[in-house]
Amino acid sequence: MDRQRNDEYVLLFEKLLNVMTSSGECDRERLKEAIGELCEFFRVAKGTAEFYRSLSHEKMGEGLFYCEYDNGKAEKVLMKKRFVTNTTAVIIGTLYVAKDEPPLPEDEMAKLDVILRVILSYLRRTRLQNAIERLGYHDEVGYPNLRSFFRFLDKTAEGGELSGHTAIYFNLRHFSLINREIGRENGDKAMRNYIERLRAVIGEEGIVSRLGGDNFLAAFRNEVLEPVLEVIKGVPITYDERQEKRIVVSACAGVFCMPEGFHMVNSGEIMDRLIPACNAARNDNKGTIVFYNDAMAMIKNRQMGLQRDFPRAMENKEVKVYYQPKVDVESGEIVGAEALCRWIRDGRIIPPAEFIPVLEQNTDICQLDFYMLDLVCKDINRWLAEGKNVVRVSVNFSRKHLLDPDLREHVLKIINENQTPHEYLEIELTETTTDVEFLDLKRIVAGLQKEGIHTSVDDFGMGYSSLNLIREIPWDVLKIDKSFLPSDEEKKSSVTSLMYRHVVEMSKDLGMECITEGVETARQVELLRSNGCRFAQGFHFDKPLPVVEFEKRLDQRFYE
Ligand code: C2E
Ligand code: MG
Ligand code: MG
Repeated sequence: MDRQRNDEYVLLFEKLLNVMTSSGECDRERLKEAIGELCEFFRVAKGTAEFYRSLSHEKMGEGLFYCEYDNGKAEKVLMKKRFVTNTTAVIIGTLYVAKDEPPLPEDEMAKLDVILRVILSYLRRTRLQNAIERLGYHDEVGYPNLRSFFRFLDKTAEGGELSGHTAIYFNLRHFSLINREIGRENGDKAMRNYIERLRAVIGEEGIVSRLGGDNFLAAFRNEVLEPVLEVIKGVPITYDERQEKRIVVSACAGVFCMPEGFHMVNSGEIMDRLIPACNAARNDNKGTIVFYNDAMAMIKNRQMGLQRDFPRAMENKEVKVYYQPKVDVESGEIVGAEALCRWIRDGRIIPPAEFIPVLEQNTDICQLDFYMLDLVCKDINRWLAEGKNVVRVSVNFSRKHLLDPDLREHVLKIINENQTPHEYLEIELTETTTDVEFLDLKRIVAGLQKEGIHTSVDDFGMGYSSLNLIREIPWDVLKIDKSFLPSDEEKKSSVTSLMYRHVVEMSKDLGMECITEGVETARQVELLRSNGCRFAQGFHFDKPLPVVEFEKRLDQRFYE
């Protein structure tokens, strides 16, 4: 190679190296150009590269093929290189020349050999990076994952501030129902198209990533918040183009608008805000979008405090049982009581509405219910020993117990260790919403009844009451929720009045005892009488009472 040709070669080779070491966007095009120039220089007619994920993929010929240069005169192979990586991926580079081309001198062949090796190792590295990107930043079906989401936020923060951006955490609503309705495959398609729609609204300056299942995260500029929320509220999505089939897909979402000067020190800071907001959205039957605010953080802190302090509160006997009488409206006699828990901390009562939902986030609630049952058994035993007029006492059991396959045994163990007669005990369970829970419920109720322990459906009418619940499960008692009880102002012909009457009638026809909760006025007591509901529980008679107070009522036996 003469001097001038060698200088030219050095320039071209440098250009190639420059392209490979710069981190610009359109590397690929510039790389092709540099390779093309080198091919022309060495009078190579065509250069190709092949990739195979594994040796067996190579054998089957299933891989990727790139042609980096082709002047249309390729006739025979000039040089071929094959590498196997330590993950057994295979990479092959081939150079061709025209038939009439004189052979290259030895020193030029050596140079070409180096060039081909350099190019192949570069391609291998970038291919590897792509694979890492694909595996590390996407889930198994190709949605960007949580890591992608945080990388986006990190990059955005690097380029300025995160304020001006909004993050949302959303959960597709009723997606299992949609899957059941249109089939899994169509369901996947509907999900993909829905996310595509959202991506289109969000644009380039944002991201949508999947956390798993039907849970997603997104971040975007504030300017597109409104159209994003429109999609979240629900849009018709095509899942079958040929037959033009559509279904409405919507989500519930927690939204966090990053305030002025917001700096993300770690990823947890965003999730800590999005999760409670999304949970609030999920639990709210009507609203489906909840914006994060600082009050939410305070509630969350308080809840975490309650969760943390609860085990010690049990040890210190801060948790007490209160009793609310159940009354026969015909005779005014106390016929039963409901045990309701109270957490007394520093002389202040924390109501169950505040801490029960917190305990229900894990299985602490089960411990509480067993503890309550034990206290109730001990009280009943004492009353029996003292010759009091003992009544049946109901204990609330959280639906969390439905996960316990040995619930019946656990309940029996507590009662039998106390040797409390079963007829004085009743377990209250609330309605359930899923089929799985439904079957568990059926099994548990039947099991308890066999032991002579009464069971009741609590808060009937509150949730999505299913008539199956009372058709399929042989409850002893139906507790009608206070929201079903007509107020004093209610007309006799109102929907609530009509429904109340029919629910009472139905429960009696089905042979269930029927009790109405939340009876607050004399007129309501009268309403129970005229509708044939024999039993009442409510502030009109008494609030839940500390045990000493309740014992006084037991001694009195009758209300005026
Ligand atoms: P619940 O089982 O439906 O209990 C009835 C609730 O209604 C009680 O609230 C009671 O104080 C209230 N109430 C009774 N009469 C009236 C009335 O006339 N008017 C109004 N407005 N309310 C009335 P409390 O004691 O605050 O308990 C709330 C809920 O917490 C209970 O609803 C129950 O679901 C749960 N809970 C209470 N104790 C326990 C427990 O030991 N274990 C479990 N798992 N849940 C419990
Ligand atoms: Mg109850
Ligand atoms: Mg209730």
